[in-house]
Amino acid sequence: MKIAQNAVVTFDYTLKGEDGEPLESTRERGPMSYLHGAGNIIPGLEKAMDGRQSGDAFSVTIAPEEAYGPRAEGRVQRVPAKHFPQPRKLKPGQVVQLRTRRGPMQAVVLKVGRFNVDIDTNHPLAGRTLTFDVEIVDVRAATPEEIAHRHAHGPGGAQH
Ligand code: ZN
Repeated sequence: MKIAQNAVVTFDYTLKGEDGEPLESTRERGPMSYLHGAGNIIPGLEKAMDGRQSGDAFSVTIAPEEAYGPRAEGRVQRVPAKHFPQPRKLKPGQVVQLRTRRGPMQAVVLKVGRFNVDIDTNHPLAGRTLTFDVEIVDVRAATPEEIAHRHAHGPGGAQH
């Protein structure tokens, strides 16, 4: 089966930065599954997946606009330290998960003070050109439930 709207795709990937250094890989946690055509992965990668099938291996380089977007200035915020579970353990450069009214968000710690923590709320990969080395492990039709939820279920997908 070829990858098209409402296919559930299971794949392994290694993500590399501009100079080829690996940033992230599924080798440590096992392949990832997603529902194709639902905007669950970055647009550039979803486009590159279209029409592929199980066993395909390819590399794709994606500009920031098709990945996590450009870096926006003015997204540095000062947050009271009490909003972090263990503020004393925070270190500059660390990626933290924040709960916001719009849902969970990743941010990078810039500076840790006694009462406040400065964070950059740009996505850690914003502004970066990314290369994915992809291996398609499996392609199957989504279940009606997966289509209704707009995400993949099972190993590598949502567990609920
Ligand atoms: Zn679900």
